[in-house]
Amino acid sequence: MRRLRRAKIVATLGPASSDASVIARLFEAGADVFRINMSHTSHDRMRDLVGAIRSVEREHGRPIGILVDLQGPKLRLGTFAGGSAMVKKGDNFVFDANTAPGDATRVWLPHPEIFAAVEPGHTLLIDDGKVRLNVTAATPERIDARVVVGGKLSDRKGVSLPDSTIPFSALAEKDRSDLEAALEAGIDWVALSFIQRPEDIAEAKKITRGRAAVMAKIEKPQAVTKLAEILDAADALMVARGDLGVEMPLEKVPAVQKQMTRAARAAGKPVIVATQMLESMIASPVPTRAEVSDVATAIYEGADAVMLSAESAAGQYPVEAVATMNRIAEEVEHDPNYRAIITAQRAEPEATGADAIADAARQIAETLDLSAIICWTSSGSTASRVARERPKSPIVALSPNDTTGRKLSLVWGVHCVVTEDAHDQDDMVERACRIAFREGFAKAGQRAIIVAGVPLGTPGATNMLRITFVGSEAAGD
Ligand code: PGA
Ligand code: MN
Repeated sequence: MRRLRRAKIVATLGPASSDASVIARLFEAGADVFRINMSHTSHDRMRDLVGAIRSVEREHGRPIGILVDLQGPKLRLGTFAGGSAMVKKGDNFVFDANTAPGDATRVWLPHPEIFAAVEPGHTLLIDDGKVRLNVTAATPERIDARVVVGGKLSDRKGVSLPDSTIPFSALAEKDRSDLEAALEAGIDWVALSFIQRPEDIAEAKKITRGRAAVMAKIEKPQAVTKLAEILDAADALMVARGDLGVEMPLEKVPAVQKQMTRAARAAGKPVIVATQMLESMIASPVPTRAEVSDVATAIYEGADAVMLSAESAAGQYPVEAVATMNRIAEEVEHDPNYRAIITAQRAEPEATGADAIADAARQIAETLDLSAIICWTSSGSTASRVARERPKSPIVALSPNDTTGRKLSLVWGVHCVVTEDAHDQDDMVERACRIAFREGFAKAGQRAIIVAGVPLGTPGATNMLRITFVGSEAAGD
């Protein structure tokens, strides 16, 4: 089974999509990677979901990526007498270290690190930005603020501080235990929420030790300002537009999306565009025109993947939402303008053997109109460098590792088949042709190009290019 598009689809699982039959239907409709959000998922449920996804994987014989999203250091208010309090514009309001229930003049803020980090003039946002305050004075025990936009404050609502860099770890106690459980369950990608610095990625990598790839969710302005260093440290990026749009003016988010997509493409690391892509499909079987256009924009930019959140996790039309994304991606990629737009952002090859070969493979495939670029890749890095070229020909990756196949399910244009390493050059060519034929990427009589590092299994040694005919013997006779 092969997809008829190059961009990938990530579907978040939740109450609307937690049983195995729905997961199978989401996969069949086009989901390449499933996201499990640990803000709303217990360890037992996470393990059940991983088991269900792996059974769909076995049934279809296709690698499926699992992305576990850690909640991260979400800051929250304490509680109020009666559950809530109203504040209005111009009021003075105090955040303090007193655990007593709050009222319309003060509330407990159970995060001592915040008191040390805020300064007069900083903005404090409550409940996804619905209430906005401006800090007038800050000491280690209390913050005085003036209400700029009033509204209702209630128990344990989220607090955002777009101007302050809070010196906390990106991994709270809950995140560490969720991460251990996820690694134990054999997931492929872990996403870190609310990171602020490259050190946050390094901290997670000390725990993952290569057992899962690490994705940086960019959802704070502080992370945007350190994007280059964060991208360097991480294995992938997510444009987390939900929280970004709370922490910075909404109209700045599209530019950040473009900046991030370009930076990630240049680095050859996957980038996901996320949140509210088909938001109205939570309650409607048909999206808005604006949503269709939003998904299309991400595909035209060459993002590796587009993501569904509540649409697939908690909406009424999870399968339709995936099918809709699938149709939009297929249609955009068939637009005669698509190639020119995607090629305009192609990054120059870096001065490495792997990039020189990836660039050459793309050019040869274009010049000769080859049916596929077939990569023998053990870690997935050769296939990722070829994907960075955004070639017109399909990319077929052959890897002996299940985990490589699963990780590559997020990468633009890569169709990975898990198969044991080739025994010699003849086997390398014959098997590549046979698999490309079987998977529908080449017909008898067509030509393909094979990229490999010889001897096989030496990571980082991409050094071989071979143009080959797909003979009728590939069909198995
Ligand atoms: P979330 O992250 O769904 O975990 O909040 C994505 C976002 O903020 O856009
Ligand atoms: Mn978020």
